[in-house]
Amino acid sequence: MSNYKVSARKYRPQSFSEVTSQEFVTQTMKNAIISGKTAHSYLLSGPRGVGKTTIARIYAKAMNCTNLKNGEPCNKCNSCEEITNGVHPDVFELDAASNRGIDDVRAIQDAAKFFPIKGKYKFFIVDEVHMLTQQAFNALLKILEEPPPYLIFILATTNPEKIPATIVSRCQRFPLQRIRINEISDKVREIAKEEKIKIDDESVFLIAKLGDGALRDALGVFDMAVSFCGENIKYNELKSFLNIPDKEIYFNFSEFIRNGDIKSILTYFNELEEKGFDMQTFFNGITEHLRDLLIVKSTSNPELLDESDSFREKYSSEAENFTTDQLQRLLKVMFETENRFRYSSNQKILLESILAELCTINRDVHDLSEIISDLTSLKKKSLTEESGEELNTEKTEDEIPVSGSHSSDTPEQEAKSTAAEIKSDKKIRSKKNGKESLSDKSGYGDPDYGDLKSDKKPSKETEIIEKLKELFDVEEYKKE
Ligand SMILES: [Zn+2]
Repeated sequence: MSNYKVSARKYRPQSFSEVTSQEFVTQTMKNAIISGKTAHSYLLSGPRGVGKTTIARIYAKAMNCTNLKNGEPCNKCNSCEEITNGVHPDVFELDAASNRGIDDVRAIQDAAKFFPIKGKYKFFIVDEVHMLTQQAFNALLKILEEPPPYLIFILATTNPEKIPATIVSRCQRFPLQRIRINEISDKVREIAKEEKIKIDDESVFLIAKLGDGALRDALGVFDMAVSFCGENIKYNELKSFLNIPDKEIYFNFSEFIRNGDIKSILTYFNELEEKGFDMQTFFNGITEHLRDLLIVKSTSNPELLDESDSFREKYSSEAENFTTDQLQRLLKVMFETENRFRYSSNQKILLESILAELCTINRDVHDLSEIISDLTSLKKKSLTEESGEELNTEKTEDEIPVSGSHSSDTPEQEAKSTAAEIKSDKKIRSKKNGKESLSDKSGYGDPDYGDLKSDKKPSKETEIIEKLKELFDVEEYKKE
């Protein structure tokens, strides 16, 4: 352990095949090298920590390798070794975040004039190229317009949209992906094995998740975990070290939510808050928890979750307690408050009100379904009074669902069946008037009723009520 090196550096991929999640980019580069159809300038874009400069170095290595194998650098020849160690005289790496001016690009211009010293090609790898000044970009463009045959530029950026189109159009573009969580997990396991460090499954997932799509960040957390936990990384120790709320607690939250138990949820939340957990982590945790439940509920495939097997099982059984609609509504509250929460000066109070809202949301919906039911019977009553005999001859009890006998448990279903009822009523009225209107068949675009069959889920209470008012405007209906 004494000579422990930073994992991200020690385990940096040295060949295209070792690079994770960027198969499209690495395969295209390899093919270009094999077929000799390489370009003079490349633009690698993508989030931080996904391997942009790593790929740039491997490419430089392969292009100058004296022992190239199937488009891959040998990593043994002098040139490969020098590039790996960052001492190759023909490979220049610049960080445009700190060297962004015209003089820095002029230095590149000057260096570009000379033939490579050792290899066939001379490389300029410019990181965060979007940081260059306008003048510097102009100077860079001049080199890109007429590059000498030995010159290759690899520009890397996290912000491709900030690069002038004139530069972008000169480059072959490669957008890099965020690294998939299971691939980060695999890498963490692999390194742990190599370093003879025991690590449980939950810890691997936690570390991979904290990487947020960037392998480098995940390996940074892994290194911290090693320095804290030593050679045996256990989930319980790790999460307390990182001060991360246990995944388990979110299951308690979802239980309170489905029970509509505001008292318990607020008491529990305050207990946890006193332990010093970060509010934003909490907010994200609850959002992610509801999202995971929704994924399992709507796909029945827990494999889609970035979780260990034991948690996947827990999600499957917890999801049974919710309907898809309920979960969607709960998540909607989280997303609607997300921005407000981020910039709130009192996140604790806001989070409390959000939690209380989550507890009431399903209860509100229950109340609303009662309202709908009442309105349905009211409307039906007025219809019967108005049309009397004629309605009775056209409709049998079987055809008209009677309010109160609805078994539907969501306002959407309720609204849909109500819409169907109105549709059938309308048909009858049309027959009564001696015309079989075509528009009746679709139910769409009828000026009298608006868009009755709209699949849009009414989101807010007021929205639903407005919609209902529109649907059941009995007075207006009578005027006809
Ligand atoms: Zn080599």
